[in-house]
Amino acid sequence: MYQLLKDKNIIIMGVANQRSIAWAIAKTFYESGANICITYQGEKVLDKIKRLTENMDVCLLPCDVTKDEEIENTFHTLKSKWKVLHGVVHSIAHAKKEELEGMYIDTSREGYKIAQDISTYSLVAISRYAKPLMHEGGSIMALTYLGGERVVKNYNVMGVAKASLDASIKYLAADLGMYNIRVNGISAGPIKTLAAKGIRDFNMMLKEFEEKVPVKRLVTTEEVANTAVFLASHLSSGITGEVIHVDGGYNILGY
Ligand code: NAD
Repeated sequence: MYQLLKDKNIIIMGVANQRSIAWAIAKTFYESGANICITYQGEKVLDKIKRLTENMDVCLLPCDVTKDEEIENTFHTLKSKWKVLHGVVHSIAHAKKEELEGMYIDTSREGYKIAQDISTYSLVAISRYAKPLMHEGGSIMALTYLGGERVVKNYNVMGVAKASLDASIKYLAADLGMYNIRVNGISAGPIKTLAAKGIRDFNMMLKEFEEKVPVKRLVTTEEVANTAVFLASHLSSGITGEVIHVDGGYNILGY
């Protein structure tokens, strides 16, 4: 990999295991020369992440995004470690399992709040804490999905959270443009990860996707990571408030 991100300091939020999209991004950014910090939710996953990163020089920080003090501590630590931050990858989403099946109309108030808080509001809070550290300009990106633009069976409350994530990307891009901070989204095609397993009939969805998608195959986390490198690098300096689909062209279909 070209050293497109040489000497850039980047925080990657949302590694749970080796299948995580954020893990592919972390590896590819590291190979591209970036200094990286990975955040994780809760001690349960720490051992796994330590094993994944044992041959890498990376920092690991706990950050549960439902807790303002953990977000604040994370960026406080980054400030003392790096002084300047060039990139943020938000690869975090969560909804209660029971909300990811059946009808959207049955979404509970609590389930709605949880999905919005973790999957969307977190990007707003994280961007606010990142901004003062991005005094050389920077790139913030979030992982999103087509279910925020179109109705996808069983995606329900998470689709609505992704729609507000997509809108937040635009509002944040408008706020932060004057500071030379760009904010974009990557809309990945369906990939078998821990989060995806929570969606009812996800395997069936993968099969149907593969049959219909123009490229006739699933996309990989590495393909998503390569687009993330582009968005974090100077090559995308003119792009902000955009959502790039890395889905083999699935989003263009009208049938
Ligand atoms: P994943 O389960 O590996 O990642 C989800 C991450 O969210 C996990 O690391 C989990 O710890 C983290 N998270 C959940 N609640 C949190 C909290 N309170 N605080 C901090 N972190 C929390 O699954 P993934 O598929 O790699 O998901 C990453 C992102 O990609 C998500 O935004 C997801 O919606 C998006 N995405 C996934 C797909 C797919 O098909 N897998 C497609 C498009 C977009």
